Amino acid sequence: MGGFIIVGAGEAGTRAAFTLREAGYYGPIKLIGAETHLPYERPPLSKPDNGAVAMKVICSDEALLNAGITYLSGAEVAELDGAGQAIILSDGRSLAYDKLLLATGARPRKLSCPGAGRALDFRTYDDAKVIFDSAYASQRVAIIGGGLIGMELAAMLRGKDVIVSVIETAPKPLGRAVPLRFAAKMHTRHVDEGVDFHLGVGISEILDNTVLLSNGAEVPADVVVAAIGVQPEIFLAEKAGLATGNGILTNPFLQTSYRHIFAAGDCAAVEQHGGGYVRFESWRNARSQAQTAARNMAGAGEAFSAIPWFWTDQYDLGLQVAGLPQPHHQSVVRALPMGELEFYLDEGTLVAAAGLGIGNSVAKDIKLSEMLIAAGVSPDPAALADPGVNLKTMLKTAKSA
Ligand code: NAP
Repeated sequence: MGGFIIVGAGEAGTRAAFTLREAGYYGPIKLIGAETHLPYERPPLSKPDNGAVAMKVICSDEALLNAGITYLSGAEVAELDGAGQAIILSDGRSLAYDKLLLATGARPRKLSCPGAGRALDFRTYDDAKVIFDSAYASQRVAIIGGGLIGMELAAMLRGKDVIVSVIETAPKPLGRAVPLRFAAKMHTRHVDEGVDFHLGVGISEILDNTVLLSNGAEVPADVVVAAIGVQPEIFLAEKAGLATGNGILTNPFLQTSYRHIFAAGDCAAVEQHGGGYVRFESWRNARSQAQTAARNMAGAGEAFSAIPWFWTDQYDLGLQVAGLPQPHHQSVVRALPMGELEFYLDEGTLVAAAGLGIGNSVAKDIKLSEMLIAAGVSPDPAALADPGVNLKTMLKTAKSA
């Protein structure tokens, strides 16, 4: 038999390979990645030390060898034969499997305006290296897209005295993932740091040293970066006839419509208890889904149920968000000595929390909030707002109740 194959050697794929061993699977494991590097973490790419992009590998060659994981780097899967339980690589090799994990991630959305080819993507180590190597003091960089990549990149580049413009179609930056209150505070900080914003405007054309905007304005730019979001990489799954939507559809056990094929990470849209499918793009999600998928491939029957969580660091500010805040939630704000927390209640139940503060100052409170969310508490909003009420005590009370 062919053993287990994992397609995609990012956070999800690589964590899954090691978790298979921890879960007691002793058969062959092949980990297939299109990039030629060892598997590496993506979050550090937009947070380089002293302006130089560092590659933080997830594992060494030796660790792969010791775990008996065959790593096929620089290999592309051209086709998936779900019924025949085999994959075909672009060099023509066919590899059989007993179970397969699709951890194919996501790829950058592409601009479609004239000159779009002049804009650099920011997804891989190689992309990050090109951008940071070409962006030095007094250079002009235009970032298209004011999302997490765009704003993290803007903060890093301002730290290098690069002249930064951010062009965003929405009226405000960070509108997708960051709660309104904190998106506004981070926007203000970027303005104070000298980032030049062009909001609520599209791109007409990218020329050699200028970005032409739909309102007729011209943004001078030596380097242009496109950070306009990602699309789940579902090509293989779609071609193989697996159920897809906004991602590869899975049941709560992370099995696709072919039950011996699993999916995890940015590419997976997971069936929810209350109906519908959720796809979440974050480092922690990739990691925890991969671990659940791997344990299930090894025989467990675990439903995936982690609370979404992400963080972003911009200048000396750290933001963390746990759960999925929605506009209809009741908001409760708590002031902190070095920042602020915002809690989100849905019909009285705590469902999400976010915090913005200096450095890592909100981390402990967000961790406790996550535990309170998991405990399904319905706290008194006045207690949540009161910095004198200890969240740890609240958790203990909830647990003993
Ligand atoms: P993103 O967070 O989805 O933001 C993309 C932004 O670009 C959105 O505000 C979007 O506006 C805007 N946009 C779309 N088309 C545009 C256009 N033609 N011109 C100008 N603006 C346009 O995506 P990202 O920043 O590219 O990041 C990619 C992925 O990496 C995301 O999944 C992100 O969550 C992840 N990431 C996470 C972290 C973290 O967790 N700290 C850090 C970096 C990246 P609309 O919403 O109006 O379309």
